[in-house]
Amino acid sequence: MRHIYSGKVRELYETDDGVLLLVATDRISAFDYVLQTEIPDKGKILTQLSLWWFGHLTGIVPNHLVDAPIPAEFAGRAMACRRLSMVPVECVARGYLAGSGLADYRRTGAICGVALPPGLVEGDRLPRPVFTPATKAPRGEHDENIPVSAVADLVGAGVAAEIERITLAVYRKGADLAARRGIIVADTKIEVGFDAAGTLRLADEVLTPDSSRFWPADQWQPGRSQPSLDKQYVRDWLTSPESGWDRHGLQPPPPLPERVVERTRETYVRAYESITGRRWR
Ligand code: ATP
Ligand code: MG
Repeated sequence: MRHIYSGKVRELYETDDGVLLLVATDRISAFDYVLQTEIPDKGKILTQLSLWWFGHLTGIVPNHLVDAPIPAEFAGRAMACRRLSMVPVECVARGYLAGSGLADYRRTGAICGVALPPGLVEGDRLPRPVFTPATKAPRGEHDENIPVSAVADLVGAGVAAEIERITLAVYRKGADLAARRGIIVADTKIEVGFDAAGTLRLADEVLTPDSSRFWPADQWQPGRSQPSLDKQYVRDWLTSPESGWDRHGLQPPPPLPERVVERTRETYVRAYESITGRRWR
């Protein structure tokens, strides 16, 4: 087994049989920094939730999973995958107005060049889910929303259309299933890649709190920021006076207090349990 890549939260290894091991650590990132404090179990929760979703999405799109043993040291936190040639686009679908989509809409009335009706407010449901791709930014930089035409320039019109179709289909299926458990999937990001035969496959993680905005449906109220089952609690603490951190300064974020770690872990557990209907342990 050899180590081939360190991402912000994942470590990639390749086995002697050519299997890619995608290992999710307990690292957490916020504001494009990897924090020095880890969230216990986070990697296992993200891996188990992704596996649950891959199983529920098989009728929608082929995925990168292969049947191969996971080394004991990575038990629970690794997926055995095909190594794909990744499409260099963050494939985002949005059903609600939040984050960079909201910022784009306020500035231009559109997201990624897709015009939306006037008068929408933060947290509003969009008339229909929209594909809002972004570039994959180098480490430490922000992903940038791009028009669908720019995706076509990158990968060709045929592949661009196929990516859009897959992204919206995954979003729709995910949003439908989560809605039955009282969770709104406001938006989600997927990654896709080509296998050796040229088939596009769903890769990376899917419909997790790190790649999606999950909102408890019973607390949804457009016109304000929404309570969210993700790292919102970490972001809020980092930007609060208590952290003493200047987001726009040169220093990296400070360590997280125990209370913030515990609340954040509980949020990840709650996302897993709500969506799968299973107890975490
Ligand atoms: P990056 O490090 O690329 O900026 P990231 O911080 O989100 O992004 P991680 O999620 O930590 O990265 O690591 C996962 C990496 O593995 C990503 O670069 C992703 O594109 C890549 N990846 C996921 N699935 C596959 C696959 N089946 N084949 C090849 N690469 C994959
Ligand atoms: Mg990632």
